Amino acid sequence: MSHPIVVVGAGLSGLYASWLLQQSGHRVWLIEARDRIGGRVLSQAPSDAAHRLDLGPSWFWPGMNPRIEKLVKQLGLGSFPQHSRGAAIVEGQDGKIHKYQSSWEQSPSSYRIAGGTQSLVEAIRAQLDDSVHIQLQTQVRSMKLRPHAVELTLQDPNGEWTQLAAQVIVTVPPRLLAQDMALEPAWPDALRQDMRSTPTWMAGQAKFVATYPKAFWREAGLSGDGMSHRGPMSEIHDASDATGQVAALFGFVGASPSYRAGIGQQALQRQAIAQLVRLFGPEAAQPLWSAVQDWAQEPLTAAKDDLRPLSYHPMYEAAPVPAAWSQRLWLAGTEQSPNYGGYLEGALEAAEIAVSHLQRSLQEGALKRAPLTHEME
Ligand SMILES: Cc1cc2nc3c(=O)[nH]c(=O)nc-3n(C[C@H](O)[C@H](O)[C@H](O)COP(=O)(O)OP(=O)(O)OC[C@H]3O[C@@H](n4cnc5c(N)ncnc54)[C@H](O)[C@@H]3O)c2cc1C
Repeated sequence: MSHPIVVVGAGLSGLYASWLLQQSGHRVWLIEARDRIGGRVLSQAPSDAAHRLDLGPSWFWPGMNPRIEKLVKQLGLGSFPQHSRGAAIVEGQDGKIHKYQSSWEQSPSSYRIAGGTQSLVEAIRAQLDDSVHIQLQTQVRSMKLRPHAVELTLQDPNGEWTQLAAQVIVTVPPRLLAQDMALEPAWPDALRQDMRSTPTWMAGQAKFVATYPKAFWREAGLSGDGMSHRGPMSEIHDASDATGQVAALFGFVGASPSYRAGIGQQALQRQAIAQLVRLFGPEAAQPLWSAVQDWAQEPLTAAKDDLRPLSYHPMYEAAPVPAAWSQRLWLAGTEQSPNYGGYLEGALEAAEIAVSHLQRSLQEGALKRAPLTHEME
């Protein structure tokens, strides 16, 4: 039997690429280093709640994210606008609290997926049939170009082994690819340097979420939106579900990765709750459940260079694969997306581009191999 196509990384991009390949009749191995699918997509729930809270991405923008919008409909997922009605709060460096009545609606509106963004990756996984084999807890360590295949060295809990692939789509962020994977023949230094200087979007970030018996801030005329120059969270929003059954707030932790690592997650949670009390009042002191997800401490998301916080959204560009590899390996993952780099939409766009290039290369290869009619006569 011929070797499968291997897709490296079961985040949104890898899952979507596998689904597209399956739809074109290919046999796929989807290899994921973590013990779960989703990558940067992660939604968690307190054990008794159906509604999950997003510790990774939470928003998409209908009208601006055509692929996500289409998938949400096609896969029968619910979506709802981010709650933003009511006054916003700004906490100054001096600790003073200012309330701002917002007279405008956010445009375009951010939307959330019912059940958390993880519902999207789970719905894609549910579309995969036996032609896609998902291999979790398996890290790709190296890739070697062989005459008719790529040889991957894989590490799973039982040790190291090799797998041949007819073609490979790599969805791992470029910095991790350059930092962690040995390639033979080696990629040019300049290309590896470019990949190392391509930030992994949001990899240096951390999120804090807390659930409450009711959305007391809404009752006080507050939207749940907050900005703070004091921290540890720099930006806070309402994270309640669409039905109002689960009331929640979340915040991006503006404090640096080194500060977060220094104080530890428990102290960080205490500081975040104290901040919510300053901003929203004493009822914020007793969350039913809270959690921190520090992406900078996830070596399968953040490379060493991602520990320096980003203050801007980079312009992403697809990295060129060296000529020797060009008929065997394609890069996907959101950082390869020309139009939506960094976003969920970019993970889908990059997967689509990689799969269509791979298909074209297979068709061209088949044409070259097929004898011309007059040669057969
Ligand atoms: C806190 C946070 C908030 C965000 N908010 C938003 C938002 O609101 N809206 C939005 O559009 N986007 C947002 N994003 C960005 C969004 O999460 C990403 O664009 C998207 O999830 C990237 O998907 P991906 O598949 O390209 O990469 P990843 O999800 O990073 O997938 C790569 C996969 O490769 C695996 N892997 C790594 N190395 C190896 C290896 N050697 N071998 C095998 N597997 C490997 C990883 O475990 C991972 O599963 C946010 C991200 C974060 C962290």
